[in-house]
Amino acid sequence: MRIGIGYDIHRFKKGRKLMLGGLEVPHGAGLEGHSDGDALLHAVVDALLGAAGLGDIGEFFSDTNSRWKGMSSLRFLDEASKKVRAAGYRVVNVDAVVLTELPKLGPYKKRIAEQVAQTLKISPSAVSVKAKTNERLGEIGKGRALAVHAVVLIEKKR
Ligand code: MG
Repeated sequence: MRIGIGYDIHRFKKGRKLMLGGLEVPHGAGLEGHSDGDALLHAVVDALLGAAGLGDIGEFFSDTNSRWKGMSSLRFLDEASKKVRAAGYRVVNVDAVVLTELPKLGPYKKRIAEQVAQTLKISPSAVSVKAKTNERLGEIGKGRALAVHAVVLIEKKR
């Protein structure tokens, strides 16, 4: 078994859709980024690649490559999971924490987890998405940014 950690932070920007785990979450602003800015998926992709020792998201999906401009980050997750499977591993489970003041993610956590599970081709029960505020501290606390921590456990296929 191997474990990987991922982290990402994006600024909020008015007029963009808020994409989290591939799901559009209603909010007055979205996350800035070259792709769709889905910080949750970016953190999970980094954890996944890290677990398998395959590098990081920037090496595969560079934000200077016009090919990925505006791209759904579900595509990154799909490609990263294929690389991990090709390296002989299967995903055991994913756990993620989203740090944001708003929006409240309670109504969306389950659907986000299901979407991530579906893309990884694993059971929804193997994906956990949690959300908390930053207690109004710092840039996240002021509602200017959203951050995500994620861990992924993988095991060698027999
Ligand atoms: Mg990112």
